[in-house]
Order: sequence, then C-alpha cells, then structure tokens
Amino acid sequence: MNTKLIFADTNEFQTTMLAVFAVDLASGKNAESRPALLTQSSEFADAALRLLGSGEFKAGLGETALIHLADSPNTDSLQAERLLIVGLGKAKDFSLDKLRKGTGTAVRAAKVRSVRELAIAFPKSGAVADGLLPVISARLTARAMVEGAELAEPDWNTYQSDRKDNVISDLFLITEALDEIYKQEVQTGFAEGLIVAAAQNFTRSLVNEPGNVLTPTELGARAKALCDEAGLGCEVYSSDKIQELKMDAFWAVAKGSAEPPALIVMTYEPAEGAPVDAPVLGLVGKGITFDTGGISIKPADGMEKMKYDMAGAAAMIGAMHAIARLKPAVKVIAVVCSAENMPDGRAMKPGDIVTAMSGTTIEIVNTDAEGRLVLADGLHYARTLGCTHLIDAATLTGACVVALGVLNAGLFSNDETACTKFEQTLAVSGEGFWRLPCTDDYRERITSEIADIMNTGKNRWGGAISAAMFLKEFVGDTPWVHLDIAGCAWNEDKKPWLPYGPSGIAVRSIVEWVRSYSAK
Ligand SMILES: [Zn+2]
Repeated sequence: MNTKLIFADTNEFQTTMLAVFAVDLASGKNAESRPALLTQSSEFADAALRLLGSGEFKAGLGETALIHLADSPNTDSLQAERLLIVGLGKAKDFSLDKLRKGTGTAVRAAKVRSVRELAIAFPKSGAVADGLLPVISARLTARAMVEGAELAEPDWNTYQSDRKDNVISDLFLITEALDEIYKQEVQTGFAEGLIVAAAQNFTRSLVNEPGNVLTPTELGARAKALCDEAGLGCEVYSSDKIQELKMDAFWAVAKGSAEPPALIVMTYEPAEGAPVDAPVLGLVGKGITFDTGGISIKPADGMEKMKYDMAGAAAMIGAMHAIARLKPAVKVIAVVCSAENMPDGRAMKPGDIVTAMSGTTIEIVNTDAEGRLVLADGLHYARTLGCTHLIDAATLTGACVVALGVLNAGLFSNDETACTKFEQTLAVSGEGFWRLPCTDDYRERITSEIADIMNTGKNRWGGAISAAMFLKEFVGDTPWVHLDIAGCAWNEDKKPWLPYGPSGIAVRSIVEWVRSYSAK
C-alpha cells in the first residue's frame, strides 16, 4: 500500500472512495442513536442526510455504510465517486485507539469491495458542538490513522496458492493545511506512524511463519538482514557460543532439537554517542520457534499454534526496526534467545538440574516451562553487556491467559519508575497491559527442595506470577519490566479493523518505552 498524506479540501479530492468518520452523539444508555459526521463539508452532510436520518446506521465502532455519490442529489460539486461512512462509537468515548480502529475499519471495508484506491478524511472535531469530543493532538491523530490503516491492510493467508489479490494500492489521508505548525505536527505524526506500523507488520510477518520455515537459524538470518539494512549492529551466535557463555538453562532447551539455536544480539547506538552514566536499555525476547512442550509434551489439540511461541522475540526485533529509524538518544541492545523445544533422545528431562549463566541452579520440573529457561540466560547476559534497564516479552504462560483473557497482556515489574514509564506509553500505543504482582512474598512458590529454584510453581495457582518470579531471580536489582503476551499475540477472531492472525502486540508500547528514556 502506497500511503500518502495530502493537504487538500476533501470536497475537491478526486478518488474512488472517500471515507468520513461519524460518531454517535446520544449519551443515555437507552437513548436513540444520533449519528453525526466528523466533517464540516455541508455537501457530504447532504449526501449522508437520508442515511443518517433512517436509523439504519448508528455510528457504532466498526460499523460502515456506503453511498454512491452519483445517485445522490446535490452532490455535483463532490469529486469522490463513493462515500464510505465509518462509525467510531459514542462521541464521549472518542479516543486515539478508536480512531486507529476506525481507520483500519475503512481500509478493510474498502478491501472486501475490491476498491484499489481509498482516501480517508481526518476527523474534524469542530463538526460537532464544543466539548462533545475529547481533543486529540494533530500529531497523534495522524499517527493513529496511519497505524490503523497499515495494520489493517495485510492479510495473513501468505501460503494460499489461490490468494486473492485485493490489496489497496493507494491510500490518501486528507486534511486541510490549517497553518505551518499544524502541517508540521501532522507530518511528524504521519512519519512516526509509518515507521511504527512497518515495524509491527514486520513482527507479524515473523510470527505468521510456520516452524518449518522460521527455524532459529532463519530467525537469526532475518534479524541480521534487517540490521544490515537499518544500520544496526548484529551478532548471531549458535551452540558453541551458548555453551562457551555457560548458558546452560538456554542450552537445556536447545539441545533437544536437531535445529541449532540462535542467540541474536542487536545493537543501536545513538549517533551523538551517550554520556558514561546514561541508561542502556536491554530488550530480551523469547524466541521458541516451535514449542512441543518437550518431554512434558503438550496435547495435540491446538499445538499447531505453538509456532507463535517466538512472538516476544519478534516484538523485540520489530521494535529495533522502528528504533533504528526513529533514532532516540539512548543506547539499546536486544537479546533474542531462540530455540525449538522438542522431545528427543538428547532433550532435557523432568528432574534434571541445570546451572544458569548467573550460577543459579534450576530443577527442571516441567520441560514445557522452557521460555523462562531461555529468558533466564538472556536477561543475565543482557546485564553482562551493560544494560541498566531491562524489558522482556514472551508468550510465557497459559495461566496469564486464564487470568486476563485476550484483551490485556500481563505486565510485571520490580521497579515503579520503569513500570510507570511503560504504563504511560499505553495511552499512545492503545495496547492493553494489566499489572500483576511479583512481590517477594511469592518467592517461595519457586523454591526447590534440591536446587536454588524450580522452573514451575508449587501448584498451578498464579502460574503467570510464578513465571515472573522465576525471571526476577535473573535481573537482580536492575529495573525490569516483564510482558507476558501469550493471550494477545494471535488474533483468533477477525475484527472489522483487523484480520485473523498475528497481532504484533507490544511493539508499539516497547518503542514508546524506549523513547521515554531518550536524552532529547
Ligand atoms: Zn512451553
């Protein structure tokens, strides 16, 4: 999709389809809907008059209606062929994320109609009475619209041989050129949105790949290619280096597969250099390219989805893609621990004891709790590389999905400042993360009788917390944020604004968290 920002009058813009947003002004619970267009063009209002008065269209989020303008009276001055009206829900609930979803809805509605070219008008808050619509800055408006559009466009039926080519080739986001400051704000937001959405789509493309294509070696090759193109440092190591570093927790997982593991280290250095005591951010991702559970094998039902068990790694690689282009003034190192978890003659067994790189001994009780084993060494290694602040992302526990469902991912932290910075990004990213505890009183959950710790909790209660407590053993007093994204990495249900498939969760929030540490 070729996405362009256009400063123009929407009435005069010639296009196949022009999308205009609408909100519902009704506020009471049982009140009749009162849809209103977010445009000040009286011509478009006239064209939509009959539809909006009919009660058919309620401006709910994800709702669309199409009007062919050639059939409408008094629309001769309008240059668009069709008007697509896109609901954003109740006016009082308007938000950046509703706008992101509304823009995505416009793109997906155009796709199913085989429209190749689409223009979307910026919402005009002045179209409805003052104070009815929460105010959003021009920069964030532009950014959310680009993100919504770019994330909605791809379909993940990559391997279908009769794949229908219904891509949108040209997308125009249209707003008036109010003044120079406004134009600059919009251009900045537009450019940021393109970068972040491209990174998130890169992450999604990795998560979508099947395990037989995206092995740890292939993940390393794709990360390396990305770094070469983006100007990032990149080292991809395998079995020898992992054993040399004494990453025995990581190796315990990796050795049960015929596919060699990959330890991927990506480095971003700000151009102007950084002062000696400046923060160094460590992004650590779980990259299990397929998880059978190992000897503690998973049930067959649904196991095919375990190709997504590298979504945390993919989020970090995607985030580095955006960081390389947004150029924050802070050093960032990504550490990805990638392996397959397979049952094999060499596979780790329940009861095995391994010594992590940090020296901590681990009793392996369940070989399906392998993500925390690779992350244990990844987090410790990031600290030895000089990281002063850590964030990790992992499809870590089914227990987190039981606790939070699929609308919020789990958020854990040992540091209020790092955690608050992360929570503050959510207003911009629109992603759902819900904080769960990992206070020291949970430590006894992972205490082993014969080693320092064990890799599961004493029983299944609070399993997401037991996993977080395990990771906490390896971060020491380094400020750390842990994201358990197991429930949110794959969209099982299609939405009007998103297709079935990989979500790319956490990329937007991680990028903003990194930027919050930027010196400028
Ligand atoms: Zn597992």
